[in-house]
Formats: sequence, structure tokens, C-alpha cells
Amino acid sequence: MTDSPIFRRHRQTKIVATVGPASSAPDQLRRLLLTGVDVFRLNFSHGTQENHGEVLARIRALEAEFDRPIGVIADLQGPKLRIGSFAEGAVALRSGRVIRFDLDPAPGNEDRVCLPHPEVIEAMTVGSTLLLDDGKVRIRVIEKGPDFLLGEIVAGTRLSNNKGFNVPDVMLPLSPLTPKDRRDMEFALDQGVEWIALSFVQRPEDVVEARGLIGDRAAIMLKIEKPAAIQHLDELIELADALMVARGDLGVEMPAEDVPSLQKNMIQKARDAGRPVIVATQMLESMIGSPSPTRAEVSDVATAVYDGTDAVMLSAETAAGAYPVEAVAIMDRIVARVESDALYRSIMDSQHPGLGRTTADAITHSANQAARAVSAKAIVTYTESGSTTLRAARERPPMPILAISIHDTTARRLALSYGVHTVHVTKGISSFGEMVPEAMRIAQDYGIAGIGDRLAITAGVPFGRTGSTNTLRIVYLEPEPQ
Ligand code: PGA
Ligand code: MN
Repeated sequence: MTDSPIFRRHRQTKIVATVGPASSAPDQLRRLLLTGVDVFRLNFSHGTQENHGEVLARIRALEAEFDRPIGVIADLQGPKLRIGSFAEGAVALRSGRVIRFDLDPAPGNEDRVCLPHPEVIEAMTVGSTLLLDDGKVRIRVIEKGPDFLLGEIVAGTRLSNNKGFNVPDVMLPLSPLTPKDRRDMEFALDQGVEWIALSFVQRPEDVVEARGLIGDRAAIMLKIEKPAAIQHLDELIELADALMVARGDLGVEMPAEDVPSLQKNMIQKARDAGRPVIVATQMLESMIGSPSPTRAEVSDVATAVYDGTDAVMLSAETAAGAYPVEAVAIMDRIVARVESDALYRSIMDSQHPGLGRTTADAITHSANQAARAVSAKAIVTYTESGSTTLRAARERPPMPILAISIHDTTARRLALSYGVHTVHVTKGISSFGEMVPEAMRIAQDYGIAGIGDRLAITAGVPFGRTGSTNTLRIVYLEPEPQ
């Protein structure tokens, strides 16, 4: 223990905040942490490597100051497709008109514009759709040549320089790792980030390729934002360490009305598989410019919590908005309020993934039941790789899961998971006899349990071996003898 101000949270669902100009100053990062952020996201679509490196160092300093492992996600831009520029900066569009997309880098006009991705032109077919500017412009391909497309404008009134576009109906022969992503990823791994998030993943092979490059240096989060990824969801979940329901691009690539059901299904599957899942994008969007959210936004955050997500995420609200701290404070209140609802508890219990067949699953399930029966203040997991703690989080217990690990990377990764309060200890324990008093001391130090309380402790005996959880012990914190 240090003398630093330690604190605990009073909610199970985690908050992820994206760092940007509105939040990268040391004081602001500290305010966000104290207000409720559990995991910070560095968005490599914006900013320089140098900026991100500085922010990471500031987060690590806060971690030391508050004696609290903090997760950091390096979110790679991925193959975000963009058109070229226009001589006038923008052009007006009219439904029914035809526009040509070609490889000529010369500035465009009403009749043509550069689409500097030959592999996309190659993959498109007559009848397929181009969605530009977050879906505001819709164009149907009516003719295709070796190096151009002719498209009929179906919807949209204006198109300006370098707008992004999506091609939902075709499977692109693109790695989710562009040359820029590879450079950013190496940088992030060098700096010691514990999560790498891959954008626009389509196929299991994409993850295998990334895993080959990353090895065990970081955990892999898959952003589900392509129809192809939805088709391969089960295999992708198996290969991933975590998922993000990336509703921004997903809602362009798929009909927007599909997104709520996809969100519920992805959360359920991720929970079943014991993989943490984040619901992302537009959660408190209006708070970019307003100190209070809309009723619909409050309801959206609440719905993600009722769906059983591990975490909810803020993007531009904390990266570039005028009210980043307020956004986190409101999110924290919404989450806590939902979790106090009896209906929420009954939903979490009724959606239980079912009992796995291993000893570890049986012990973990029993720990949840036993902890509830005796009103234990926490479930304690000693973990090397994090797998024991992920099992416990899958149960969605009503009390915190205290995760104690000698590995700082494990402790940081678990900061994303439902209900987990992570503690990094520097010294391993070697016996059951040492474990019990240490767990009691840590639970008291962090304000999780006091004299007269109980804890449910799970462990793998003998110690120091991964994946061998086989022991459950209920302990009572006795008053000190007089
Ligand atoms: P992005 O990902 O913010 O990097 O686009 C999230 C999303 O698409 O929802
Ligand atoms: Mn996206």
C-alpha cells in the first residue's frame, strides 16, 4: 500500500473514454479517472504517435498515483476508405444524376471524383451501393470499367473533400491492417499498451494475421462494424480477446434498425464466451455541445447496461466535446441507477450462459451462488492469465470481483471486465495459508469489505499454475482479538 488516495467504484459496468484534445491534459485525465473512467481509448485515426505516447505516460502516472490498474486501448484506424478532393472543395448532388469515380488524382467536379482504391473498384459490381459521408450520400453503381465506376445518385445533396465511404455489399480483399496501422501498432506495442483494437475486421483470417504480428504482446479487440464480420461472428468471438459493438460504422454498413438487435446478440454471445464487450458510439452524442443529454441518449446507455454489456464507451464526447467530465459523470449515474433496479438483476440472472463443464466453471459458478447466499462483499479471484476472473465476470455477479494478479498486464486488461476491481501485487503467494489473509487485507485496504463481512475466494491449488481453479473458500473477517 502507498499513501496515495485509493478509491473503489460502486457499479459493475465499466466506462471507456476516448482521449483527444478535450481530455489529454494531465489534470483532465485525472478528473476523468476520478469521475468514473476505467479504460482509456487512444484513437489512432486522429493525433500523432507522439501525442498518444504522451497521453499513455500520463495515464501510467495516474495509475501509480492511485494504485489502480487502468486499461488502455490502442484503436487502429483500419482501412477507412476515402474519396479524393474537389476543385471547389465540395459539389452539389442531385438524385438521378450520374457521377464517375476513377483513379485520376486530379481534383473532381460534379461529373467525376477520384476514388484512390483500385481494389475497391475491382471488387464492386453493377448494382452495389456506395455510401458516402456516414451514409448521407447513397450511390448505386450502374456501370463498371477496369479503372472506373459510374454511379447514379440515389440520395444526398452535397459531397465535400476526402469524405469517407462504405461499401456494405461487397467483401473487400483488404487486410484490416494498413501500412499506417502496422506502424501505429508497433509503436503502441513498444509503449506497452495492453489492448489493440482492429477496425473493419471481416474474416477470421484477419485476426489470425494480426495475432501473428502481435503475438502475446497485447490482447486483441475486434470492432464489429462490417456485415462480413456479422456473418463470421462466432468464429471471430472465438479468436478475439474482446469485442466492440462499433455502432458508428455498423449503422452505415447495415440498416440502422438492425443495430439494436445486433447489439443484444453480440453482448449475449460475448458473455457466453467469456469475452468482454463494449457498446460504442453516439451514446451521449449531444453532450459534445450540451451539458445535459437527451432522454433518448440516457435510455440508450441504460439499454446497453440492461443488455448486460461489460462496458459503455464515449467517443467524441470525451475526445473533442465541451463537457467531457459531465458526460462521464452522467454515464456513471445512469449505470449505477440501472444496476440498482431489481429487474436488471433478474435479467442478468435469467440470461446466465449456462454451466460450463470444467472444474473451473463449476467452482466459479458455485462462488457466485455461495457469495450471494452469505451476502459476501466480493468474489476474490487470484489470476495469472485473467481467465479465472473472466469466468467470474461471465456470471455477472451483483458484488465486485476482486482480481489479484502479480502480472500488471493481466490486471490492466481486466479493468475492462464486468464488476472487476483489479489489484496488482508485486509478490506472489505460495500457499493457501498466505492467500486468505492477503485477500482479506486487500479487500479492506480498498474499502470493499470490513470487519464482520464475508468474502468468497477462488483459487487454483497448487499455486502459480494457469487455468487450474479448483478451490472455493468462504472467509469471515473476524474482529481483532482484544
Ligand atoms: P470509430 O469506431 O469511432 O473508430 O469509427 C467506432 C464505430 O465505428 O462505432
Ligand atoms: Mn468505426
